[in-house]
Amino acid sequence: MKTTGIVTGIVSNLVTVKVNGPVAENEICFINLGGVKMMAEVIKVNGENASVQVFESTRGLKGGDKVEFEGRMLEVQLGPGLLSSVYDGLQNNLATMDNVFLQRGEYTDPLDRKKTWSFTPIAKVGDKVVAADWLGEVKEGWLPHKIMVPFSFEGEFTVKSVKEAGDYTVDTVIAVLTNDVGEDVNVTMVQKWPVKVAVKGYKEKPRPNKIMETGVRVIDTLNPIAEGGTGFIPGPFGCGKTVLQHAIAKQGDADVIVMAACGERANEVVEIFTEFPELIDPHTGRHLMERTTIICNTSNMPVAAREASVYTAMTICEYYRAMGLKCLLLADSTSRWAQALREMSNRMEELPGADAFPVDLSSIISNFYSRAGMVVLNNGQTGAVTFIGTVSPAGGNLKEPVTESTKKAARCFYALEQNRADQKRYPAVGPLESYSKYLEYPEIISYLDETVEKGWVDKVLKAKNIIRKGKESAEQINILGDDGVPMSYHVNFWKSELVDFVILQQDAFDAIDALCPLERQRFMLDLVLEICAKDYDFEDFEKCREFFKNLINELRQMNYSAYESEQFWSYNDSVKSMIA
Ligand code: ADP
Ligand code: MG
Repeated sequence: MKTTGIVTGIVSNLVTVKVNGPVAENEICFINLGGVKMMAEVIKVNGENASVQVFESTRGLKGGDKVEFEGRMLEVQLGPGLLSSVYDGLQNNLATMDNVFLQRGEYTDPLDRKKTWSFTPIAKVGDKVVAADWLGEVKEGWLPHKIMVPFSFEGEFTVKSVKEAGDYTVDTVIAVLTNDVGEDVNVTMVQKWPVKVAVKGYKEKPRPNKIMETGVRVIDTLNPIAEGGTGFIPGPFGCGKTVLQHAIAKQGDADVIVMAACGERANEVVEIFTEFPELIDPHTGRHLMERTTIICNTSNMPVAAREASVYTAMTICEYYRAMGLKCLLLADSTSRWAQALREMSNRMEELPGADAFPVDLSSIISNFYSRAGMVVLNNGQTGAVTFIGTVSPAGGNLKEPVTESTKKAARCFYALEQNRADQKRYPAVGPLESYSKYLEYPEIISYLDETVEKGWVDKVLKAKNIIRKGKESAEQINILGDDGVPMSYHVNFWKSELVDFVILQQDAFDAIDALCPLERQRFMLDLVLEICAKDYDFEDFEKCREFFKNLINELRQMNYSAYESEQFWSYNDSVKSMIA
């Protein structure tokens, strides 16, 4: 029998319920408001009283309204058809604009139940299988989508039957498995999984050992992110967090992309709706949306739904990772999610931590980041979830709790700087504050040695050093004046400007410059370092400035020309003659 209860208190989305039986933390319940059933999640249980956060507006709710508990946690449905879908945090299908304005208590089906998928069996009768093992495959777009033994299945099963190749709907029983006590269980193409629990079903989770190419020079060249790695982009409003994330989404070397747009301005979400489906995948020439799932919540949706959205997005990524695919999860912005946690914690009058965030904010964030990673599946193949989140610290203050907690959890830090954005030096990633801890991993260093160039990491450090020296020189020039410093200060400053304009800056809106493959990044860094390795002397600082400005101009023309085109080589020749 289901546990039921009645509403005893309401503070906005936080509702207290007196219950008549057992309820569990994170259990889902429905509150009946005049026939409309509103979904809510238990966040605290205290004797007969449960605090639940309602995923909808609680307008009109009153004491005495009835509540029914479901005995399950917030789940996501996993199956073919997730890709190219747009959902909200509760996996309501927002494919049509009508659905963006769902009525209260209205929930839509996340998967198309009528569509048929062309299925090919992988497992054979008599095979021994465990959770996450592959039973068959359908083509989702052009990606092989594995139909797996559900993640919730415990122990070993024997395959009793598998459907032969053919077209089936997601609810068709495609396999019957027998458990160790001889009971038969049916498997369809759909399984459910509680979003707040990490999906298991892999053999091991070793340290990442290769990098994920993003086509963005400040990332790949200076602070690369590992495949299965974690990173975050903090930055004040308007500094380019969203543009950078979209660039990574467009170009990142991943099979599947999940974008969690979590409560920034409402019009941004509309932009995702309209722009994303238009984008062409530079790797395949097909629509990027074919291998993308978007989860979106705007700031005008209830806070609880925002928290759910990042978990829903992560679970979908883990599902595709279990198929041996490379997945990229982007969440914009995780601050909105943290604020949702804060609102709830404050309403419950919990003892607050720093800036009134919940005391366990740090562990909530690191638990979430730790779900990313590269895994070795039971069959020896690998899959990865790479996670990059943005953080929008109020007033650009990087000492606030969400940024600090995220810094502990993520291995890459891409700090966007207001003054770089003001000068239109995009992407505004600060070259000296930002870092990638993967550059210290021996496996990553040897990977870069083999795939990019021997001694690559040393070159990267050299480039960072040029920027550091240039910054120091600029400070001296500012204090002592152009004529008060030796020529070498001007040369150092202009060498760092050269690295800045040619390597760091990249036009996300230029068809060629936007996507810079690693091979091309190697060529440009080598060229820039060759230029910077030389000693230069000038009669006066104005000659120095003119020389470097002309050089930077030619190098930027190279960035805007197709790699290895005639034009590219002619600029290259001109650069070489200038430094001869
Ligand atoms: P945020 O998400 O941090 O609030 P946005 O990503 O929306 O900021 O960026 C704000 C604006 O900055 C963009 O509309 C664009 O004009 C400019 N911008 C940001 N990054 C770039 C880039 N890489 N190239 C060119 N313009 C950029
Ligand atoms: Mg933004």
